[in-house]
Amino acid sequence: MEKAKKVLGIYESGSSYWVGDGFPVRNLFPSNPVAQQVNPFLLLDYAGPHEFPATNESRGVEEHPHRGFETVSIAYQGKVCHRDSAGNSGTIGPGDVQWMTAASGVVHEEKLDPSFLKHGGVLEMIQLWVNLPRAFKMSEPRYQTLTSADIPEAKLDDSGSLLRVIAGEWDGNSGPAKTFTPIQLYDVRLRSGAKLDLHITTNMNSSLFLLKGKLAVNTVAFEGQAKLAVLSGDGESIAVEASEDSTFLVLAGTPIDEPVAQHGPFVMNTRAELLQAVEDYRSGKMGHLV
Ligand code: MN
Repeated sequence: MEKAKKVLGIYESGSSYWVGDGFPVRNLFPSNPVAQQVNPFLLLDYAGPHEFPATNESRGVEEHPHRGFETVSIAYQGKVCHRDSAGNSGTIGPGDVQWMTAASGVVHEEKLDPSFLKHGGVLEMIQLWVNLPRAFKMSEPRYQTLTSADIPEAKLDDSGSLLRVIAGEWDGNSGPAKTFTPIQLYDVRLRSGAKLDLHITTNMNSSLFLLKGKLAVNTVAFEGQAKLAVLSGDGESIAVEASEDSTFLVLAGTPIDEPVAQHGPFVMNTRAELLQAVEDYRSGKMGHLV
């Protein structure tokens, strides 16, 4: 008999701010004190939904560095472009995911797609930061565009409930994302009345981010918009029941049991490594956009 994971807490966004002039975000963590329970995830920003008027001007975040972790962007509405100093670039739209491994360091820009802005429209996306273990923090940068067509979609019923496997496995479906530690990342839509039983390995941290809807998670009420439910590592099963049409993201991962030292866009294990990251960025070792 599987043991149910316990809902440890339900959180609203702890802060909200603009990232550059393209991403009006609500932050779920680290602005809420859940670092231990969501490890290996470091940050969850929920951008929008926000309506941008038509413009020919550029909007987004100008070039900035990252080292020691990965940034994962999941698009729900609107289009976003990425370009980095490792020579990688890509544009994602609804249903697509960008999985950018900064590792030893990149400089990149994140912009709203000019063709999207030209006509204007609603932007809605999530950005996650995923930590890397010490052994991979200084490995080569990598970039994966995971298009909607690459992401397996499991139909849960005949009324439109579905589960998309971005990373990890679900019921025989494998997500396309290459990860450095075990991660399960699912985009889930449940129609009102639908149920879903999830099985997450014991000792994997897990949480649910609700974009909108009304759920019961292991019988605990979880409803509204932009809310995070954090579950225990202990236990395996998560029973989700929707009483309204709901959209949520399931995040689970094996915690990385190493010290975390962070300074802005750099996440390393020690303060000395952070000073080195700042120095390497300043001296151009993370490259430049051309
Ligand atoms: Mn960035």
